[in-house]
Amino acid sequence: MRTAYISHADCQKHDTGENHPENARRLAAIEDRLLASGLFDVLDHVDAPEVTEEQLLRVHTRRHLETVRSIVPASGYGRVDPDTVVSADSLLAAHRAAGAVVAAVDLVVGGKMQSAFCGVRPPGHHAESDRAMGFCLFNNVAVGAAHALEAHDVERVAIVDFDVHHGNGTEEIFRDDDRVLFCSTFQHPFYPFTPLLGNAANRVNVPLGATAKSAEFRAAVSDHWLPALEKFQPETVFVSAGFDAHEDDDMSNVSLTDADFRWVTEQIVDVAAAFATDRIVSTLEGGYERNSLARCVEMHVRVLMGLH
Ligand SMILES: [Zn+2]
Repeated sequence: MRTAYISHADCQKHDTGENHPENARRLAAIEDRLLASGLFDVLDHVDAPEVTEEQLLRVHTRRHLETVRSIVPASGYGRVDPDTVVSADSLLAAHRAAGAVVAAVDLVVGGKMQSAFCGVRPPGHHAESDRAMGFCLFNNVAVGAAHALEAHDVERVAIVDFDVHHGNGTEEIFRDDDRVLFCSTFQHPFYPFTPLLGNAANRVNVPLGATAKSAEFRAAVSDHWLPALEKFQPETVFVSAGFDAHEDDDMSNVSLTDADFRWVTEQIVDVAAAFATDRIVSTLEGGYERNSLARCVEMHVRVLMGLH
């Protein structure tokens, strides 16, 4: 199985300040781990292009693009909200992050790769069509999914999101689009505190209590995600790969283990093999404890590559 690793040095330039959990050391830890494991050398490396305005406008309003441009300062720091810090190179990093998922779609849907992992930042799944929030400027996975639907011969995609925070932005963008099935597990009640919508033909929200561990997470995936994915039969599977539900990550209370992230990736690979000719486009969302983040990304990528 050929798997692309798509990133860009510009993603490291998104400076969020001294003590921000979403910082450049996250990607450095991931790449160090991939190097040490030997995986880095067998991945197909692709430099992320910058997303185009046309690609962003498939999921964001023009006003949103103008707002993001206007808050990025020439020097020092700007803020979208108390959590979401931007600096001079943040727009460039955000363009690379969304562009990475577009490039991943072109490679995977175009048949050159079975799967791709986008090692990018800033993350994306909290960004709504008209609002940046929660460390996210543009909704990278949504930009990629829209690219598959609009620029390729793809009629149905699934986006599965195992980040511990609800992917409110992805849900909002595709709420009324029956070409996109959104499956999410998340701690609830918890950030982003947006109203929890009921499930629908294109939406599977499975809230997890703060005390949830492996059993609850695996039951959520097995009992809710997998039947919906089997019914929907996505032609490409997108992954919002956040690793902040890990027990070592103090961003949340949910306590998953390395083995849970391996297991959920195996389930996703099985769905893609059954319905999507193995096509998986995965992109990094959260994960702030760098040791567990790096280990779990290595495992996630290893399973995508068909190495166990
Ligand atoms: Zn998160």
